[in-house]
Amino acid sequence: MPRDRSQAPAKPGPSGLDAFARLGVRREIDLLLHLPLRYEDLTVVVPIASTRAGDSAQVEGTVRTSRVDGRPRRMLRVEIEDDSGSLTLRFLHFTPPQQRQFAPGARVRAYGEVRASLFGGEIVHPRYRLVGDGAPIPQQLTPVYPTVAGIGQGLIRSAIARRLRTLSLPETVPPGVIARLELPALTDALKLLHAPPPDASTAALEERSLPAWRRVIFDELLAQQLSLRRARAARADLRAGPLREGALAERLNATLPFALTAAQRRAASEIARDLALEQPMNRLLQGDVGSGKTVVAALAACQAIGSGSQVALMAPTEILAEQHLRKLGPWLEPLGVRVGWLAGSLREADKRAVRAAVEAGTIDLLVGTHALIEESVKFARLGLAIIDEQHRFGVAQRLSLRERAELLAHQLMMSATPIPRSLAMSYYADLDVSVIEELPPGRTPVVTRLVSDARRDEIVERVRTAAEDGRQVYWVCPLIEESEALELQTAIDTHAALSEALGPIAVGLLHGRLAPAEKQQVMRDFSEARILVLVATTVIEVGVDVPNASLMVIEHAERFGLAQLHQLRGRVGRGAQKSICVLLYHGPLSQSGRERLRAMHETTDGFEIARRDLRLRGPGEFLGARQSGQSMLRFADLDRDADLVEVARDCASHMLIHEPQQVDAHITRWLGAREEFLKA
Ligand code: ADP
Ligand code: MG
Repeated sequence: MPRDRSQAPAKPGPSGLDAFARLGVRREIDLLLHLPLRYEDLTVVVPIASTRAGDSAQVEGTVRTSRVDGRPRRMLRVEIEDDSGSLTLRFLHFTPPQQRQFAPGARVRAYGEVRASLFGGEIVHPRYRLVGDGAPIPQQLTPVYPTVAGIGQGLIRSAIARRLRTLSLPETVPPGVIARLELPALTDALKLLHAPPPDASTAALEERSLPAWRRVIFDELLAQQLSLRRARAARADLRAGPLREGALAERLNATLPFALTAAQRRAASEIARDLALEQPMNRLLQGDVGSGKTVVAALAACQAIGSGSQVALMAPTEILAEQHLRKLGPWLEPLGVRVGWLAGSLREADKRAVRAAVEAGTIDLLVGTHALIEESVKFARLGLAIIDEQHRFGVAQRLSLRERAELLAHQLMMSATPIPRSLAMSYYADLDVSVIEELPPGRTPVVTRLVSDARRDEIVERVRTAAEDGRQVYWVCPLIEESEALELQTAIDTHAALSEALGPIAVGLLHGRLAPAEKQQVMRDFSEARILVLVATTVIEVGVDVPNASLMVIEHAERFGLAQLHQLRGRVGRGAQKSICVLLYHGPLSQSGRERLRAMHETTDGFEIARRDLRLRGPGEFLGARQSGQSMLRFADLDRDADLVEVARDCASHMLIHEPQQVDAHITRWLGAREEFLKA
């Protein structure tokens, strides 16, 4: 087997490889795994007359005229002709030397998408070069690489081409697996992808379903599985205090005003079992909005507190944290649990007092926002950290939460973003997952109506009728991503307009700029029905629980993401009443806007919504910042490649037991120095 030198640091110097660090390319193997985004077919030159609008083509001709136009904006137009006809090359950005290149009579070879214009065919910003007669034509498809400013395609191409000539990578994956998947050797796959033969189809190459792509994707998925599984194994060596005393949880269960659903019981017992172990729990509790995760968390808290530990419960917003406080206080305080509250908005003196009590161990359950970890709180005996709506925490917060908690505590994360199976298997290979897959009984599914905003007045009347019947209403203001100020102003205006239109009915206003105490007051007024119509920005998106609210109107629904709409809609349909969600849209709708609204209309199933969302957005965006930026997955698409995820997982299990040296080689090859960072 050839020696693998590809892990060696890439040598800086004439090759310009030092510049490549900005592309994340530090070693030879990184360069080889820097794969093309797409391809250009420069192997043929076609007659100008045979080009068709919409196609990408390479043409060659002589410059006939070249001029700079001033209007509608400054641009350079170069007309070239061959034996068959003529075509315009148009440049919106150009330099004087470039302008001079196109002297009449010069021969130009240009590549790009041909468009029809008033004056015949044109290519805007073609890739081009000036050629002499008989200049050679490339014999293979030309790869186009992802790059950053200052690193040209030519530099990347030649650096890679040089290494391909002698490329021979040792295999790290068991040959049986590769044979079963009918995939090529990694070396062959990389050679094909970097330098495809001229008869390969650019379309097939770009679709990433060729065996060569699947080989790369499989290896990448395998690296991710191996890395996550190893992180999980490392955690198994950590020790947390076993929390075995179940009596307090029993008492809570007995005093609840409802019986747990079967799914809640199952999740609660999975958690109870984990807590009793010495190895720290790392469990995600997943359940659609309204499925009743909070009570399951409360039972876990009781087991920890009953066993003599403290519990931290964190929520991503103060509104939500406060709601937990109001819900859990009445459940737990009668059982003798001492509940504390810590949030950024508390006065400094109060914070100090809370911190001291936590440190002294006289608070059993501390509820709050991420202030819990940021305000240098020292727990006397933290046993369990519960993180609600964990996907809503920022990246840095999640990391520090994990670091803090991992030292000694069990962790329970909760999320209402249902994660499709392939995604869960992939990204959460290091987590245990409990799912609450049913809603408490007596809920009627929310009916969703799509209504054009031309009929807004009718909807306002519906709101009045609902409020007069004693039902409560959310009116969600449009998301204005470009401007927080504008979003705020819209909310204020909407509140004023609705207050006037609805006469004596009490209309409240909730937005992110209110002082925390004001927010709490508004939420309290709404949940105690002193306010009947609540005008709100998306601050109400997560977790808010007012069962009497049964009508929701979302303005400019087409601006929201699918997951967000689902979360918002989850605020209604929490009581026994039939609930309605009105999505007011402003046409004309974009293709994806229409698909999002249709999905909302067609289903209330969070898993189905998540599946469609994943399809519309791709996993990076779906999961948030960390994954989109520095994902371990650059090539795989969890929807398209779901079959490979499963094989990779099984293959990882096999390798961890039977081929531990290959595990290291494989992870290093694919993740290299990034692994440490990504583990978090
Ligand atoms: P989520 O999973 O979205 O966090 P919550 O925990 O806020 O849901 O629960 C939603 C509502 O359902 C709350 O009012 C809660 O008290 C109620 N609830 C939870 N479990 C049950 C149950 N088994 N039967 C009836 N109501 C329940
Ligand atoms: Mg919740």
